[in-house]
Amino acid sequence: MTHTFDQLWAETYRHAARYSPYYRELFHDFENEPRLQTLPTVDKRVLSERNLDFLCVPRARVVEMVTTSGTTGRPLLWMLTDADVQRLAVNEQLSFACAGLTAQDAVLVAVALDRCFIAGLAYWLGLRELGCGIARVGAASPGLVLEMIERVQPTAIVAVPSFLRVIADKARETGFDLPNSSVQKAVCIGEPIRDRAFALNASGRAIEASWGARAYSTYGVTELANSLCECDAGAGGHLHAQQLHVEILDDDGQPVAEGEIGEVVATTFGVEAMPLIRYRTGDCAALYNTPCQCGRTTPRLGPIVGRKNQKLKFKGTSLFPSTLASVLEESPGVESFVILARRESELSDAIEVLVHGRATVAALREAMQARAKIAPQIRHASREEIEALQLPPQARKRRTFVDLR
Ligand SMILES: [Zn+2]
Repeated sequence: MTHTFDQLWAETYRHAARYSPYYRELFHDFENEPRLQTLPTVDKRVLSERNLDFLCVPRARVVEMVTTSGTTGRPLLWMLTDADVQRLAVNEQLSFACAGLTAQDAVLVAVALDRCFIAGLAYWLGLRELGCGIARVGAASPGLVLEMIERVQPTAIVAVPSFLRVIADKARETGFDLPNSSVQKAVCIGEPIRDRAFALNASGRAIEASWGARAYSTYGVTELANSLCECDAGAGGHLHAQQLHVEILDDDGQPVAEGEIGEVVATTFGVEAMPLIRYRTGDCAALYNTPCQCGRTTPRLGPIVGRKNQKLKFKGTSLFPSTLASVLEESPGVESFVILARRESELSDAIEVLVHGRATVAALREAMQARAKIAPQIRHASREEIEALQLPPQARKRRTFVDLR
């Protein structure tokens, strides 16, 4: 059954205001919902400090407990009821349907299903809902993925882009003909494969070329128990309006114009255990409301251009490290790089780019000026120096941006 925005909002507000200790304290009127846009936002810091005060149901009704990925601070504990798990399944079903998957498809889920992650569970549930054949190969062994491609003849794979590239490397090493395998679609989670203008970035292009498959971008947030996947038009992830409402806000908390970059702020609909109202995700992207070529009329969320707290200030302009990273990825003769930001003054950061490879500093400076409209400091560095900055001890993930501000 389809509900109107007003119905969905009223239900979310009344439920949260009545049953969540956090929202009960914040909202005193349980019956009459104010306009959504007039309410305060909530960020990850509050979620972390008051984690279980967001829970609206007795613990006995909780059936799934997951944690967030914890890229910023301690991972949050997130809980779902049986109905929330069903909502998650429907969300992923709708998302995969955007990528054109149907019951005819056999799909490899090359994502961890354990370690308290929600993602693998969500994909598995969504594919079940669609009626696909599923092989849970996980994200640990590229060799197993290749073996299962041969034995299962899957039409699609769901994985993190960097793992797709590791699998492609393994295929090259072992003489496995990946471009001509049965895999037609690669659903790419967790890392961007498109730039701001929706063109495939270096990673997206490498995946399409090495897999001989179409890459689809998808964006999900654990706390929202939601993901948005793009369709064949590749023009942003389709929002499922019965489950989520998204606003894009500027630094002052005001809505930006359509197509402008701002922070993704989301309100969940239909969540029982831990509903969220105006949650600041910290991710920055643009929202598009024009109807899509695929015929869907739901809003589309553009590629995530970066984290809000990573935004750089440089001589009067602001930009995301990802803009500089994509210039470097596109430049011939760059083997590896790292971008460093230091605090210079209130108005401007000092940006330094360390590059390894035969690309000249002059050529890179020109490319930066042309495409990112800034001229940061650039210097050559050894592979080892860059590696040490990209992967410091205890790092969980390789990084190309180091924030020293
Ligand atoms: Zn579409």
